[in-house]
Amino acid sequence: MSTEPEPTSPTPEPVPDPQEQQPDPPADPDPVVVEPEPEEDTTPPPPPDGTLGTVVTVEPGTWYEVTSVCTNAACPNLNTSTTEPMVYSNAGSIRMVCGRCGANRPITKVTKLDPQPEMS
Ligand SMILES: [Zn+2]
Repeated sequence: MSTEPEPTSPTPEPVPDPQEQQPDPPADPDPVVVEPEPEEDTTPPPPPDGTLGTVVTVEPGTWYEVTSVCTNAACPNLNTSTTEPMVYSNAGSIRMVCGRCGANRPITKVTKLDPQPEMS
């Protein structure tokens, strides 16, 4: 009779700990509601030199005194302000053209004539 000891059973594999530590997920930061800022008014830039532009909308069929200045660098009247005492608005807009260079002259001042001249 052999009395050899039975081979010892192999040591069991280590059972992985089911409660393996998981890193805590970072706490959700409070959602920050960012309200969209209202868009700034996209106002067009003012015309250069504080003029009213080359075309001024006014009442139609009315007489105005109009002051304009030529900004054409090639014009002998550059930056020369001229006042026309009587300008008819026709359909309701005033545009001044330089008599020296033919460029549109930016208008700096429009004054409605009061009283309006009587045209016969
Ligand atoms: Zn001019």
